[in-house]
Amino acid sequence: MGKVYLIGAGPGAADLITVRGANLLKRADIVFHDALVQAEMLALAPAARHVAVGKRCSRISTDQRFINRNLVEAAAKYEIVVRLKGGDPMLFGRAQEEIEALESAGIAYEIVPGVTAALAASAELGVSLTGRGVSRSVVFATPRVGEGEDASDWAPAVARADSAVLYMAISRAAEIAEVLEAQGMSPSTPVVLVENASLPSARQIGSTLRGLKDGAAQALDGPAVLLFGDVFTKRAHALIGKELMAAITPLQAVPR
Ligand code: SAH
Repeated sequence: MGKVYLIGAGPGAADLITVRGANLLKRADIVFHDALVQAEMLALAPAARHVAVGKRCSRISTDQRFINRNLVEAAAKYEIVVRLKGGDPMLFGRAQEEIEALESAGIAYEIVPGVTAALAASAELGVSLTGRGVSRSVVFATPRVGEGEDASDWAPAVARADSAVLYMAISRAAEIAEVLEAQGMSPSTPVVLVENASLPSARQIGSTLRGLKDGAAQALDGPAVLLFGDVFTKRAHALIGKELMAAITPLQAVPR
């Protein structure tokens, strides 16, 4: 009987996996990985069979029960089975379903944490999610509701938080802005969007709730988070200013 390791791959950059995760990848016999996991990181497991089981919004999707069954079956065949998940496995990664499947099959498992997207975005911005006198609480939330799942009320928690990071929110950003306004947030509330945090292709956009309704998120097509809170106000305004300048003087190259 093998052991299954649920490993956090981190936000994208191949050197943002933990040393423990990288060492296990080196020894892995088989790696089941998310679609967001980069080829460079899979190269850390040269001896292993690589199986893509990823979900990228609704584009590629592998049924969760199929993934669970694969993990259980692989543990009967291989010694070191890795389930490599983007960011941290325990945040918005359906890890619990995999853990339960392994437990009920009596298979040994271990979780190796990873750097979650919210923290990579904060690092990318150089803006701390907490701040003395400004922010003592951080909410990680998603408005995304899975098939057959009840929509829990994510919005009040986000509206009340000092700082909030929204995952899987970009494609519905306009609708999200409406919901947050209904919670009493002002249309001029600043928001920062960070795409591809930790990768060379990283992008930051500054906007407001009103801007989100006007389609500020439409320019993004990579994985991205929305960040709200007073700690981001200065950065949001600086980014908005830069974008306005770029629009006014289109012939002049404006560094990001
Ligand atoms: N377990 C992962 C989250 C999986 S949900 C973690 O801990 O990060 C997938 C969502 O994560 C995406 O829709 C996006 O909101 C966010 N995300 C993942 N990688 C990202 C990155 N490099 N930059 C910004 N957001 C990212």
